[in-house]
Amino acid sequence: MTQDVFAGTFDCIIVGAGHGGSQTAVALRQSGFEGSIALLGAEPEVPYDRPSLSKEYLAGKKTFERMHLRPQDFWSSRNVELVLGTRVVAVDPVAKTVTLENGACYSYRSLVWAAGGEPRKLSCPGSELSGIFYIRSKADCDALLAVLPDASKVAIIGGGYVGLEAAAVFRELGKHVVLVEALNRVLARVAGEPISRFYEREHRDHGVDIRLNSDVKVISGRDGRASGVLLESRESLQADIVVVGIGIVPSAAPLLAAGAQGSNGVNVDAYCRTSLPDIYCVGDCAILTNGPGIRVESVQNATDQATTAAKAICGNFKAYDALPWFWSNQYDLKLQTIGLNCGYDAVVVRGEPASRSFSLVYLKNEAVIALDCVNAPRDYVQGRKLVETAAKLGSVQLADTSKQLKELTLETN
Ligand SMILES: Cc1cc2nc3c(=O)[nH]c(=O)nc-3n(C[C@H](O)[C@H](O)[C@H](O)COP(=O)(O)OP(=O)(O)OC[C@H]3O[C@@H](n4cnc5c(N)ncnc54)[C@H](O)[C@@H]3O)c2cc1C
Repeated sequence: MTQDVFAGTFDCIIVGAGHGGSQTAVALRQSGFEGSIALLGAEPEVPYDRPSLSKEYLAGKKTFERMHLRPQDFWSSRNVELVLGTRVVAVDPVAKTVTLENGACYSYRSLVWAAGGEPRKLSCPGSELSGIFYIRSKADCDALLAVLPDASKVAIIGGGYVGLEAAAVFRELGKHVVLVEALNRVLARVAGEPISRFYEREHRDHGVDIRLNSDVKVISGRDGRASGVLLESRESLQADIVVVGIGIVPSAAPLLAAGAQGSNGVNVDAYCRTSLPDIYCVGDCAILTNGPGIRVESVQNATDQATTAAKAICGNFKAYDALPWFWSNQYDLKLQTIGLNCGYDAVVVRGEPASRSFSLVYLKNEAVIALDCVNAPRDYVQGRKLVETAAKLGSVQLADTSKQLKELTLETN
């Protein structure tokens, strides 16, 4: 058992040196915060761009140095103390301290929890075998990259964005790829059916063997290594490696154990305050209770919530009201999303998916709430206004590509 050792006091301690944590530090300094700041991170690396992991980094097209969110010397120049490669394991909201796994204990005036999430692990028999990979951190990706040259057959479990992006990279590298999805379409939790069907077709055209409605029964193995996937249907798929992308579990246990309200994440108000005094939470593990009541996993969300929390710490209370946006790159396709499609009750397809440039407009009570734009940057840019104003336009108008979305906006004004 390690003995807790008092290691210092900081005016603001930020737990998690990812997108949300690093932006909290940046926004604090931009807001004129002059107190001491510590950024405590479990990963040994300086803050880096996580989305690149399943895109250019996996493809070998971007070096890690180019993924740094800020130059190496930025943090010291802003007087932000980086404490990396160690995890916060306990929070005491009364004594206002956090304890690291090595027993070091720091006290804070304000605490920002920005710990993101851990990949959800497989739980079926065989999930403990070697040769099974997740893509959440640089370390995860490096472990995968170390064996990739020797693997010709890859089984991907999960048809979400991470699984699909990895599938695209593996195909471009010439691997045989089978992708197993439990539901009846890929991207089922995040996108409307026309987007799912479009991406299924694209991946199949690129040679990915997509299995929908397929539950994994066992990861089969040989000599302690994964050698394939046995489906509930009893079909056996051979693989040299298995890559799993089945979502995340929010990294919030120490904060919840300290009494913060929440369950699958930490509840926060419009200023990203948790139910505990002077403790904020941002990013993948935060649930905005006065918003849609869900965790939003995106760089935009982590960054804008971090700015909201930093401003509140500086006494500038501005409720979080940023418009969500997201992107995903697969092959030569760039998907850009604006808005959140939660609770949509109708969709309009704008443009022809077969042309590989189209948008899906999500409506709720006839108002535009979100757009998914595939190779359609103009719709993405112009659709923002429709989402911001919750524009009510007929389906026929929205589908009419002879007019730009901004022209429709003008017509409604
Ligand atoms: C492969 C991949 C591709 C993605 N692609 C996109 C994309 O294209 N577009 C997009 O918008 N979003 C994308 N995302 C999602 C996006 O990266 C996340 O939403 C974003 O990183 C969330 O920021 P965060 O600060 O909440 O968490 P993170 O960036 O995950 O940072 C959390 C940090 O906290 C650390 N940590 C955890 N627990 C502790 C602890 N107890 N003590 C100390 N440190 C701790 C973690 O190790 C991690 O470094 C992608 C994510 C992944 C994994």
